[in-house]
Amino acid sequence: MLQPSKTVTTTCPYCGVGCKLELHIDANDFIYKVTSPFDAVVNHGNLCVKGRYGHDFIYHKDRITTPLMRKVPQKPGARTQAFDPAEWQPVSWDEALDYTTDRMAEIYQRDGSPAMAFYGCAKATNEDNYLLEKLLHTQFRSNNIDHCTRLCHAGSVVALQMAVGSSAMSNTAAEVIENDVFIVTGSNTAENHPIIAIQMKAAVRKHGATLIVVDPRRVEMVDYATLWLAEKPGSDVAIFSAMAHVILKENLVNHEFVDARTDNFAAFEASMEKFTPEFAEQISGVDRNLIIQAARMYATAPKAAIYWTLGLSESTHGTDNVLSIINLALLTGQIGRRATGLNPLRGQNNVQGASDAGVMPWHYPGYQRVDDEKSARKFEAAWNIEAGGLNRKLGLTTTEILSNVRPGGVRALYIMGENPMMSEPNLNHTRTEIEALEFIAAQDLFINESTAYADVFLPATSWAEKDGTFTNTDRRVQRVRQAIAPRGDARPDWQIICDLAKRIERRLGREQSSYWDYTHPSEILSEMGRVVPEYAGVTYTRIEHEGLQTPVWDETHPGTADLFTETFPSGKGKFHALDYRPNAESPDADYPLVLNTGRVLEQWHGASMTRHSHLNDLYPEALVEIHPSDAARLGIADRQAVRVTSRRGSIVLRAKVTEKTTQGVVFIPFHFFESAANELTLDKLDPQAKIPEYKAAAVRVSPATDAELFHPEISQPRGRY
Ligand code: SF4
Repeated sequence: MLQPSKTVTTTCPYCGVGCKLELHIDANDFIYKVTSPFDAVVNHGNLCVKGRYGHDFIYHKDRITTPLMRKVPQKPGARTQAFDPAEWQPVSWDEALDYTTDRMAEIYQRDGSPAMAFYGCAKATNEDNYLLEKLLHTQFRSNNIDHCTRLCHAGSVVALQMAVGSSAMSNTAAEVIENDVFIVTGSNTAENHPIIAIQMKAAVRKHGATLIVVDPRRVEMVDYATLWLAEKPGSDVAIFSAMAHVILKENLVNHEFVDARTDNFAAFEASMEKFTPEFAEQISGVDRNLIIQAARMYATAPKAAIYWTLGLSESTHGTDNVLSIINLALLTGQIGRRATGLNPLRGQNNVQGASDAGVMPWHYPGYQRVDDEKSARKFEAAWNIEAGGLNRKLGLTTTEILSNVRPGGVRALYIMGENPMMSEPNLNHTRTEIEALEFIAAQDLFINESTAYADVFLPATSWAEKDGTFTNTDRRVQRVRQAIAPRGDARPDWQIICDLAKRIERRLGREQSSYWDYTHPSEILSEMGRVVPEYAGVTYTRIEHEGLQTPVWDETHPGTADLFTETFPSGKGKFHALDYRPNAESPDADYPLVLNTGRVLEQWHGASMTRHSHLNDLYPEALVEIHPSDAARLGIADRQAVRVTSRRGSIVLRAKVTEKTTQGVVFIPFHFFESAANELTLDKLDPQAKIPEYKAAAVRVSPATDAELFHPEISQPRGRY
């Protein structure tokens, strides 16, 4: 047996829990085992299947480790996704970066900043993302940059900013074991945040906490719940506002908190009048008595908290959904104390950090608005840009970027690590848009459904081949350490961006206008700390052993476990009056079922990593979950091939007949390109957060044959890339 040559401590590259890993590496630079120390503050030595076994993608034979360029550049409108290796040629880094520079500069000089758009990456480090937004802002003077936060928690971010002025988790996840009552809503925690789910289960079984689950699916956490409110998809505002109605009517309000720390109570109270439990029962299908019980439990608990994920936010009324639970926390004073709070569990490993780093179209790093003159001047000074040089206009969000590809609109797209051809809604529409682009550069590990469209491919290192930091779901900035040498000629993202930025500066005559000479990512984090006050006290030295939770105001500040203990960043917490709005699309005679989409434990998002790992063997194909009563009515047996059709597309996959989903609702995981759930979803957006409606599309399900199982319009099988 090979003996380890070293063990490197780092942070998991998958979900936002941010578990600490020990990578055991043999003499051949091969990670042969992954463990976690028992004293790890986040995960106490526990790891889920992805954290422990999901790292072999680093060594996959399909990994691209040399820069590639198309022999013949693709033409707008005739761009193709088919990846024929004969159409590509390996090139040097100089050739690839010079070509990228020339094409982007040419388009920018011809069409200006509206033509340029970037996708950042929630899997990449804070440092990578900080530099990417800096490149777009300083060189192309554009704000068209976004990442997957738009597609997951944008509703949460916007609602929390509106109500309390901060969009992060208010408390530390591990505090759940101190909760007396906690609500889990729109979250399949056991599969998507497994280590937090372990703590939730311990809270119930060992510490006597009461769990209330509000979810249309019978997720595993229901087994631990005292109450399960099995709502119809999209009825969250009705349920949580009915709870507020009960709390108001029964005078369970925390008047001291409301008087001292909130605003706009009267308008909110008036808007809650119509949300009787009877009204909510009609809309949600949930027994009114369960709603009343849930309201009493939450309001009267000494310490109660709410945890949620995308079931709330991924909706055309995602902002309202989240405002409805914020209203509850303000009404009862279940916030601003230990083991209470509003806790959006963030999805990807560094979605919190990528957002903090400013990979968003309306903000510079630290949520400082691009349309705020003071903020813009601050960043002009920090980045050595002439006064008035930065763009004050709000940029386009992810879905807007790929809905604005046309002359006069977006012409060039730089994709760092995202896979919009899997993650965007209504993929048939997205495909038309991406095919119309004039230039695409992709910075990634693999050719995937999106990078296959590129003109140039810049091979990046995985997280195990570079240094940096991730910020986890409870705002903890933790070290990522280089454990093995980069594969082939792959480079860390931050180095690729710096090299490209210097070339673009020269090409645009902006040389020396900003700074790109970093020798180590620690210098990039220090620079970020100079412009983001919440990161001012985070240094690599301080997080050598344990991460620090932001805000960390200076180098003596210990970090912040619980937010809002004295005040809110916005001063007072603001109640919002709400109305119930139905989903953008409702079931009807032609499309009688509601499609819900999400993740499974063994796969991860667009699946670039997990489908190049042996994890793929554990859950190798998409299955549509359908309730036994719906399956019987439609004549569908377990594991039978079925066709699922919406107004936008159609896919074929096998059925899983299960009571995990409720009657009238089907569920499809979105990881599988052969039967991509987003062929079916609709690209209607929440008006405030611009997040699409992923959780409620009207569909029909009909029997199909095994011969129909592959859907040829989407892509070639990954093995052929
Ligand atoms: Fe990694 Fe998340 Fe699993 Fe922890 S729970 S090991 S962070 S995927």
